[in-house]
Amino acid sequence: MSDSIRPLIAGNWKMNGLAAGLGEAEAVAAALMAEPARARVALCPPATLISRMAERLEGGPVEVGAQDIAADASGAYTGDVSAAMIRDAGGRLVILGHSERRTLHGEDDALVSRKVEAALAEGLEPIVCVGETLAERKAGKAESTVRGQVEGSLPMALQGRAFVLAYEPIWAIGTGLTPSSAEIAAMHADIRAALVGRLGETGLRAPILYGGSVKPANAAEILALPEVSGALVGGASLKATDFLPIIRAV
Ligand code: PEP
Repeated sequence: MSDSIRPLIAGNWKMNGLAAGLGEAEAVAAALMAEPARARVALCPPATLISRMAERLEGGPVEVGAQDIAADASGAYTGDVSAAMIRDAGGRLVILGHSERRTLHGEDDALVSRKVEAALAEGLEPIVCVGETLAERKAGKAESTVRGQVEGSLPMALQGRAFVLAYEPIWAIGTGLTPSSAEIAAMHADIRAALVGRLGETGLRAPILYGGSVKPANAAEILALPEVSGALVGGASLKATDFLPIIRAV
């Protein structure tokens, strides 16, 4: 964990959550109001809940974000949601290039890079996800794959802007598997070098989150690693009783 970068614990609810589940977000906010966290905390619910979550959490310690945006600002894109719409709904951050979008929706680095530009144009803080498959790791290509994603997904427009990078090995997402501490530390050091190589000073300041099966039992060990400035949390962000101990592990 770097002393100069404020950590971020971000929850990704994926395609889970109805209005009845907003109480979980309120429970997280209430606990952090009673005892403030060292980390910034954000929740990214499905698009349908962003405005209601933002209204209920307004002015509190939990920021609200989206899980994706369209690359274009407006137009004939049935079913898509633009950066301006997310901002209008109360979202302030956006996850981009999540492996589920890359795999299930065919998003490549070039599209992710355009989405980052769209986010910046509306003042949304991008959380850009990168990560290798198990086959790539086994073939000794994890570092080169991730470096390629960092270079291809981050537009030069990020220079001087706030953004977050999330390293999420695809094989660790939702599986209960995690890389070893040494593997996480090595990859985060590599990503830092790639960020600085691409964006100079800006690349030095961006938090690098780890994501992939983070839970209360492993959070403290992962979050203590060098260059790990927080976590992107899927399944364990759905319940306040799981998410809060991860937040408190910083
Ligand atoms: C994610 O969806 O970004 C994620 C890390 O999921 P999980 O924590 O469930 O592995």
